Amino acid sequence: MRTLPSYVCGGWAEGKGDLETLVNPATEEPLARAGAGGLDRKAALEYARLRGGPALRALTLAERGALLQAMGDALLAHRNELLDLSVTSGGNTRSDAKFDVDGATFTLAAYAEIGKGLGDARFLVDGEGIALGRSPRFHGQHVAVPRHGVAVHINAFNFPAWGLLEKSAVALLAGMPVLTKPATASALLAHRMVEIVVEEAGLPAGALSLLVGGVGDLLEHLGPQDVVAFTGSSETGAKIRALGSVIRHSVRVNVEADSLNAAILGPDAAPGSETCDLFMKDVMRDVTQKAGQKCTAIRRVLVPAPLAAHIRDELVDRLRSVVVGNPAEDAVRMGPLATAHQLRDVRAGIGRLAADGRLALGSAEPLAGVGAPPGKGFFVGPCLIEVEGGAAAPTVHSLEVFGPAATLIPWSGVPAEATEVVARGQGGLVSSVYSDDPTFLSEVVLGLAPFHGRVFLGSGKIAEQSPGPGTVLPQLVHGGPGRAGGGEELGGPRGLGFYLQRVALEGSRPVIEKIVGIRSG
Ligand code: NAP
Repeated sequence: MRTLPSYVCGGWAEGKGDLETLVNPATEEPLARAGAGGLDRKAALEYARLRGGPALRALTLAERGALLQAMGDALLAHRNELLDLSVTSGGNTRSDAKFDVDGATFTLAAYAEIGKGLGDARFLVDGEGIALGRSPRFHGQHVAVPRHGVAVHINAFNFPAWGLLEKSAVALLAGMPVLTKPATASALLAHRMVEIVVEEAGLPAGALSLLVGGVGDLLEHLGPQDVVAFTGSSETGAKIRALGSVIRHSVRVNVEADSLNAAILGPDAAPGSETCDLFMKDVMRDVTQKAGQKCTAIRRVLVPAPLAAHIRDELVDRLRSVVVGNPAEDAVRMGPLATAHQLRDVRAGIGRLAADGRLALGSAEPLAGVGAPPGKGFFVGPCLIEVEGGAAAPTVHSLEVFGPAATLIPWSGVPAEATEVVARGQGGLVSSVYSDDPTFLSEVVLGLAPFHGRVFLGSGKIAEQSPGPGTVLPQLVHGGPGRAGGGEELGGPRGLGFYLQRVALEGSRPVIEKIVGIRSG
């Protein structure tokens, strides 16, 4: 069986010592081994800093954008192979695989376009020049220049393709070399994508490195110009923030963590309306897509109390018909969880959520997956938990069950009650509200806003175009306060800021304007 090598110091290198066996989550068939024991992580960082950094900084933003385009083109040429690998190695249905793989190339293309638009500059001019004295000669101007370190990216298991490239696209465009570490369990797809990019996209040496396996002592060697962008659990995020190297060198850290995303159905969105239909469709998609292993998935479903029984019955009917099994089978609509560890966590979590109320559908018991070998695969069916009210459900607001489970919470129809219940989640990535009543919407949206990175306004009017709240778009920021990690990624050109040092230039106007490339007048 193949051991996946890492790509460090300009070459491929296999780890030694303990190796983890990666399996097909639907059949448990071993696929590859992974581990990074014995690799010199300090040297890997140094190589990226000294080779990749200068090479990227020498390019204009348009040239860096063209590199992203070349990466996207190379990956698109292997799209079918990558989708197949996502199905076998990640337990994804073909549609889930497209969500991850196509989401990755879409994000690359979006940042390639941003680079093209930024043109021949090598850094960004931030805002207008400022007259600082009595005469216009004494002048100030902010600029944002690439940091001279490495962008270390540590990713979660659920989006090996998108996670790799949404972060890399932004860092490379900003002019920072990337050392990316996928979650070990789902490293096969990320490894293959880096292999394709290295072979076919013509990146400068040191621009992109890959560590397959445990993080080891990597973060101990961080320096003051490095940054870390992490996606994963809050526990790991907190450990990274507390590292001596991070504190000592004021290393910038961005954390994307857990989230108890909510969807609120407005009292005006009666069953049968287009807005209520969209709400049902989005909840269904989020429970089942990637078997609920999506950081943006709707976990808490708030429904006006008089409609709760109707919505519950409708959701139960729809979820019951979902075929769960080996995603290699055409009829299967929901695959397994990604790992045995995930299955254990999700089963325990469903049990804890159900203790807040009752299971309207599903159970914590493992399931025989359609088309899977008997007794094999990490399957659990869709679950809907029903509680009496927000206040009576403490676990629902504190435990993220990273699987196909959502909780139905009846509420009074008073906007302030809905926002108070949602805020108990202590900060989230995205919550959504489905209504066409502008007065209700403005109260709820402004109530939700301080607790979220994104608020989705669901309406029949956007139903045909909207991918739903669970899809992260490169044009909009992704992240959220509190439990969600306090981070922010993407958001078009805003995302570059994390990789750039903003600096104020203060001096004589003609000199500053010459340096930044702006002409007087
Ligand atoms: P995790 O256990 O925290 O692992 C995430 C990554 O951190 C993996 O690459 C892991 O490597 C690495 N890691 C583990 N211990 C580390 C340490 N001490 N120092 C540095 N890195 C370390 O999380 P997960 O189970 O993979 O991911 C699930 C969680 O991610 C969920 O809670 C979900 O909500 C969250 N998530 C958030 C977003 C978002 O955008 N906000 C997106 C996706 C997922 P190994 O795999 O080698 O252990």
